[in-house]
Amino acid sequence: MLGDFDEFFVFWTVLLVVFLCQKYYFQNSGVIKVNDQIVPKSVNYHFTRQCNYECGFCFHTAKTSFVLDLDVAKKGLRMLKEAGMEKINFSGGEPFIVKRGRYLGEMVKFCKMALKLPSVSIVSNGSLITEKWFQSYGKYVDIMAVSCDSFNEETNKLIGRGQGSKNHLEQILKVRNWCEKYNVLFKLNTVVNTYNQNEDMCEQVSRINPIRWKVFQCLLLEGENAGPEALRNAERFYIDDATFESFLQRHESIKSLVPESNTKMQNSYLILDEYMRFLDCTSGSKVPSKSILDIGVENALKFSGFDEDMFKKRGGFYKWSKEAERLSW
Ligand code: SF4
Repeated sequence: MLGDFDEFFVFWTVLLVVFLCQKYYFQNSGVIKVNDQIVPKSVNYHFTRQCNYECGFCFHTAKTSFVLDLDVAKKGLRMLKEAGMEKINFSGGEPFIVKRGRYLGEMVKFCKMALKLPSVSIVSNGSLITEKWFQSYGKYVDIMAVSCDSFNEETNKLIGRGQGSKNHLEQILKVRNWCEKYNVLFKLNTVVNTYNQNEDMCEQVSRINPIRWKVFQCLLLEGENAGPEALRNAERFYIDDATFESFLQRHESIKSLVPESNTKMQNSYLILDEYMRFLDCTSGSKVPSKSILDIGVENALKFSGFDEDMFKKRGGFYKWSKEAERLSW
């Protein structure tokens, strides 16, 4: 028989061991601690993996052609809103490829009108966007980000940013002008890689005058663009930190430039895939949670590997909506 003191001692020792084991498990499996509940304020929903381009470094490749039914996707978006989402970014693959943009259009409309999200944005390669789409859906979009890695069409072709005879640069300028006409903020994304690392883009970017110019360091992700299972091999595109730094210095006069190095990027995005599963990138590959549609947002978030501190450092809570920043072209 144990005395009162011994029982007390055993009880607290067991509790301490359980606590330490749990802490170790959470720290070492990419799972967050139970009490550190994450609110999914900003979500990147990669609802399709299909794309009409073939960028050699793509890290969200066409491993499936799956797209959720629109009603199911809306249900998931509502769940995220109820869990605290304020900002949604639609991405791919190429988000305009599904039903020629109508699927995306209906989702941005739903997010703005039914869910009343303060910020709705899109990342696209720009090639499939039409003025008609802006006429129908532009009013529901706060920010349109378009990818441009080079102002030399030959370099774009070498990278794989292109389709047939379409001119990527001409199309980007069209989209930029439609953004201005339909009151959507225009953002530019550039991935620095071996093919564009020496380019000086100051003049062209100044002329385009995006609200933000995000400059990414080419990222290697096991199973996506690196390793035997991957559909792409991006190793020939990879640049080291010093090369990335020198690109940034060459463009330091561009005030809208926001750099995204590999470390910053790897787990500072809350990524939802085409099945509405959070992807945990902390281990260097994408490990999916279960779908929020099956286990709810809160449970799925425990497996998201999301680094909230890095998100804040990255400037994740920046001006999210049109209301926050009126256009000045
Ligand atoms: S445009 Fe984007 S999604 Fe398409 S291949 Fe290039 S990087 Fe991948």
